[in-house]
Amino acid sequence: MNRRRFLQSAAVAALAAPLARAQAPRKEAVLNLGSQEGRLPGASLKEKVANLAAWGGVGLELGGNPKGRIQEIRDAIAGTNVKVSALCWGAHKGDLVSLDLEKRKKGIEDLKDALNTAGELKSTGVIFVPCFNKESELPPAELDKILADILPDIAAHAVKAGSRVLIEPLNKGETFYINRIEQAAAICKRIDSPGLGLMGDFYHMSKEETDQEKAFVDGAPWLWHVHLATGKSRILPAQEEHSYVEGMRGLRKIGYTQYCSLECGCRKGTDPMVEIPKAFAFLREQWKLAGA
Ligand code: MG
Repeated sequence: MNRRRFLQSAAVAALAAPLARAQAPRKEAVLNLGSQEGRLPGASLKEKVANLAAWGGVGLELGGNPKGRIQEIRDAIAGTNVKVSALCWGAHKGDLVSLDLEKRKKGIEDLKDALNTAGELKSTGVIFVPCFNKESELPPAELDKILADILPDIAAHAVKAGSRVLIEPLNKGETFYINRIEQAAAICKRIDSPGLGLMGDFYHMSKEETDQEKAFVDGAPWLWHVHLATGKSRILPAQEEHSYVEGMRGLRKIGYTQYCSLECGCRKGTDPMVEIPKAFAFLREQWKLAGA
């Protein structure tokens, strides 16, 4: 090899090395399946968790702020592989972005209280939708300003509590504000706190994202939770034709190891005891296809 060629190859190697590192997945992706509590069959939380665990599920998502149920939840998951995933807290009637400052203050207090519960339960985060349709008259730019104002303090509280706020983008039928992962990511980037992240929901993403793989890749630094449902009727995976492969390709690429949680019911007249394990088997197949 002559000197010129050697220099060229060394320069190429020097350039390629950091690039390869940047493109390598952060860690091996894992499909950690779970479900919202209300979707699971069982007469008690303990029974629901036992069913989930028997089907290989590992994440239990709870609704609202279950602060009066902490012991019940701990008892239900004790001795199983199931852990608390996210708390699906929601929008709180748009109070956090209300122009009525008393309402806003109360909304912020309630979210902080949910974050305390999340911390106690070692939950991934509290799902937050700033406002659903008709919950605010303000244009998105004004809502952005309010979030920029309130979120740094809430996120700092989340860090202290040991959890985080997770912004959930919804389709336009449910909110005019934050429909895509990149919009939530822009807010996370601006606030720049470990107490603030985002999530992706396959149902909403199938309506709003043109490239689900890219959406997850772009949102990767802040992605802490995923909701699973079909794109059309929002029912159990495998009960309606819907492919998860494009989105799962993104999850695999970024080394996603957090939970993917069912946010969907069974088709009317079908038995969740039969259908949920079928859905999990289908999702595991889709995950394999996404890695092929
Ligand atoms: Mg959702």
